[in-house]
Amino acid sequence: MTLIIDGNLPAAKVREKAREDVQRLKDQAGVQVGLAVVLVGDDPASAVYVRKKEEDCKEVGIYTFDSRLPKDTTQAELLALIDCLNVDPGVHGILVQLPLPLHIDEGTVIDRIAPEKDVDGFTAVSLGRVLRGQEGLRACTPLGIMRLLDFYDIDIEGKHAVVVGRSTIVGKPQSLLLLEKNATVTICHSRTQNLAAMCRQADILVAAVGRAALLGAEYVKPGAVVIDVGINRGDNGLVGDVDFDTVRPVASALTPVPGGVGPMTRAMLIENTVKSAQGTLGVQSPC
Ligand code: NDP
Repeated sequence: MTLIIDGNLPAAKVREKAREDVQRLKDQAGVQVGLAVVLVGDDPASAVYVRKKEEDCKEVGIYTFDSRLPKDTTQAELLALIDCLNVDPGVHGILVQLPLPLHIDEGTVIDRIAPEKDVDGFTAVSLGRVLRGQEGLRACTPLGIMRLLDFYDIDIEGKHAVVVGRSTIVGKPQSLLLLEKNATVTICHSRTQNLAAMCRQADILVAAVGRAALLGAEYVKPGAVVIDVGINRGDNGLVGDVDFDTVRPVASALTPVPGGVGPMTRAMLIENTVKSAQGTLGVQSPC
């Protein structure tokens, strides 16, 4: 029987713990945990993501500071807003929803976020900390996948993990987190030759590509654990990068889309925001 890895269950547990932590911060330290949510432009998918993240915050008692900016907002205006949020003591996390309009350089904007408020884990400092194995805020999707594997008692140490996709927000940090847990990691991408043969070597296969149902049964070793990060909008709703129906009989465990990785990504944003608020309590002013 293939285990269908339900992300909603562990995500609910993360939110439950966050709700307790948020309440404790309020009761014991008088701190209201706050997340600033910055959305530039009117991309409908981004608007949906932001709304869902704000609903999660509301559920656990995190206050959200909304900044909805027009699509012609200049980079300088956006950087000025981030500077302001960086020093606002009521803001413990800053989320800048991507993608940004093309006239704005995403890297410059993301790197302006103070690392201690970088709840998406996308700044160069946060990513550098992953590379060094240092404490810090981790990117939500890779972190959520690690927590999913842990929740379902899936062994990582010594296993061969193949990650398809090398983006800065998913594939690369995912590979590093798996490596940190002593997996042997192979990273594949659009120039990889014979992708199916590479993927068939995987004990743990992570698909983070953005191509609907790219990976079919011929990409999966019998008994492999398959984690589908992909979110692709088709005529019949959302589909992943994995061809769920053909892979299901081959894999030992498989995440569905939706309902697998997505809920954990959102849950990790909540967890990072609480962690950030908890961290600020211990920070002493150097002045
Ligand atoms: P990117 O477009 O940034 O990266 C895609 C990666 O896939 C690239 O490294 C690219 O290779 C590789 N790739 C593209 N085509 C192929 C191919 N035919 N064979 C092998 N590799 C290929 O995407 P993201 O990493 O941001 O996201 C990946 C997917 O995950 C998307 O569907 C996205 O929507 C989804 N996602 C889901 C989240 C969730 O919470 N569930 C969160 C974040 C993303 P190259 O580098 O050579 O171009």
